[in-house]
Amino acid sequence: MSHNGRYILKNGRVIDPLQGLDEVTDILVENGRISGIGQFNKKDAEVINIKGLIVSPGFIDMHTHLREPGREDEETIKTGTKAAAKGGFTGVAAMANTYPVIDNSGMVKFITETAQKDGYVDVFPIGAVTKGQKGEELTEMSDMVKAGCCAFSDDGNPIENSHIMRKALEYSKVVNKVIIAHEEDKSLSDDGEMNEDFISTKLGLRGIPPIAESVMVARDAAILGFTGGKLHIAHLSTLESLEVVREVKKKKLNITAEVTPHHISLDSSHLVSFDSNLKMKPPLRTKSDIKALKKGLKEGIIDVIATDHAPHALFEKEMEFGSAPFGIVGLETALGIVYTELVKTGILTLTELIEKLSVNPAKILGIGERSLKKGNNAYITIFDPKKEWVVDKKIFVSKCANTPFDGYKLTCKPVMTIRKGDIVFREGKFYKK
Ligand SMILES: [Zn+2]
Repeated sequence: MSHNGRYILKNGRVIDPLQGLDEVTDILVENGRISGIGQFNKKDAEVINIKGLIVSPGFIDMHTHLREPGREDEETIKTGTKAAAKGGFTGVAAMANTYPVIDNSGMVKFITETAQKDGYVDVFPIGAVTKGQKGEELTEMSDMVKAGCCAFSDDGNPIENSHIMRKALEYSKVVNKVIIAHEEDKSLSDDGEMNEDFISTKLGLRGIPPIAESVMVARDAAILGFTGGKLHIAHLSTLESLEVVREVKKKKLNITAEVTPHHISLDSSHLVSFDSNLKMKPPLRTKSDIKALKKGLKEGIIDVIATDHAPHALFEKEMEFGSAPFGIVGLETALGIVYTELVKTGILTLTELIEKLSVNPAKILGIGERSLKKGNNAYITIFDPKKEWVVDKKIFVSKCANTPFDGYKLTCKPVMTIRKGDIVFREGKFYKK
C-alpha cells in the first residue's frame, strides 16, 4: 500500500484488552509502530476511514500446518500465510510435522528464512519434541530455541512415552518454552474414524471414545504437577478433558488450552453425510461437549481459539470415509465461525474473543505482547462484526479447500490485516513487500 509508512486509522472501535480500552477513536501508525491513540490531524498521513469496524491487536493462530517442506502440493509458507492474512491473522505458529520434520536448528532456520522471503504474515516455528517425531529421543531444544523456535510439539502424534513427556516438561523450564500436547491414547483411539457414540453405532463407523483424549490430558497434568514447566493442550474437545484442566488450573500449575472453531460449532450428528471433511482428530464430539467447551471459554479454562489449519489434497479427501486423512483447513473461516457461535449468541464479549485470538496465544508463545499501546509494533486486525457472508471454498487462497463449512452463512469478516505497519490484506486484496 502506498501510505509512506504513515497513516491514520480513523473512527474505528478500538478494543485493546491489555489497556482495558474499548472506544471509538483513531490510531496513528508511523514507521511500523503505533504512534498513538486519540485524535490526529497530520497533513502528511493517509487517512483510512474505518467507521463501524473493530480494531484489534493482531490475531495469532498458534496451531497451523503450513506443509512446507514436503507437501508443497497441499500448502506452502506463501499460500498458508496468505490464507492467514485473509483470515485476519498477523502471525501463525507453524507445526513441526513437515517432511522432513522440524527437529533441528537447520530446519528452524529454513522455516524462518523462507517465511521472511515468502510470508505475508509472521511465522513462528514450532519445533518437534522428539527426533523425527518418533517419540523416542528428545530434540536439541536449546539449539532450536536459539534458531527461533517458539514452542515444542509432536502434534499429529501424541507423546506416548511418559518418561519422554517428563523430560520434555523438564526441558520446557530450561528453555522457557511451552510444550504443546496432542492428547491421544492410541490404544484407545485405535483405528477409529469418528466420536464413539450412538451415531457412530448407527452409521457403522469405528468410534474414538472421549477417554482417548482425557486419559492423556490427565496423565500429562499429573506429570506437570511433578515436574513443573509449561503445558498447552492442543485442540481440547471433550467435557472430561476440560474438567481436568479446570482442576489443574486451581493448583496454579502452568497449563493452558485451546479449542478449534470446528469443535465448538459442529457435532458428531453431522457425520450422517459421510463427508470426509468432517473427519478430524480429535473427532467432532457431542452437543453436550460443545456446551461445556463454550462454558469453558467463557470461564477462562480455555485460553485460546486456534484453527488447526490442516490442508489435505482433494484426491486424498475424496477417498472413501475410512481411507481419507484427518483434518480441515481453517484460517479463512475462523473469525466468522467463532463470532457467529460465541459473540452473536452472547457467550463471549468482543474483548474476550480478542483475548483468545490475540492476547493469550501471544503470551503463551512468548512472542511479545499483542496490544495497541503507543510504541508497540503495529500488529493490527480490523474486522466488520456486522458483515454477513457465505463461505465459498472456490475462492479460498489456501491451496486446499477441505472444509465442511462451504455454503455456511456467517457473520463477521476480516477487512484489514496489518503486520508491523504494513497493510498485507485489505478488502480482498493482498500486498507484499
Ligand atoms: Zn493435533
